[in-house]
Amino acid sequence: MTARWGAPAPDGVRHLLRADHHPARAVACPHCGAHAHAPCTTISGRRRLPDPPHPSRITAWARATAVCPTCQVAPGTECHNGGWALPGGAVHPARQTEAEVTA
Ligand SMILES: [Zn+2]
Ligand SMILES: [Zn+2]
Repeated sequence: MTARWGAPAPDGVRHLLRADHHPARAVACPHCGAHAHAPCTTISGRRRLPDPPHPSRITAWARATAVCPTCQVAPGTECHNGGWALPGGAVHPARQTEAEVTA
């Protein structure tokens, strides 16, 4: 074997949680219209809001990134209850938790 390590072994690699902003910023906010990676603002767009983002943004982020442990849908698919989408694009609470623990 002549293989050499070109890079350090991925020993206990952890997700880098950027403490300066919430992971839900990866998606656009359906509530205030903030673009992906931009902070939430007031509805008028005049004032930036501190994290956490609007709850509906966190919901949208969970829907876009996490599998739902409750209804078993894939990322990007709406949660459903017996085949009916949850009202208002909501997700099951377990899905939001799933997104947060895997962020
Ligand atoms: Zn927002
Ligand atoms: Zn679900």
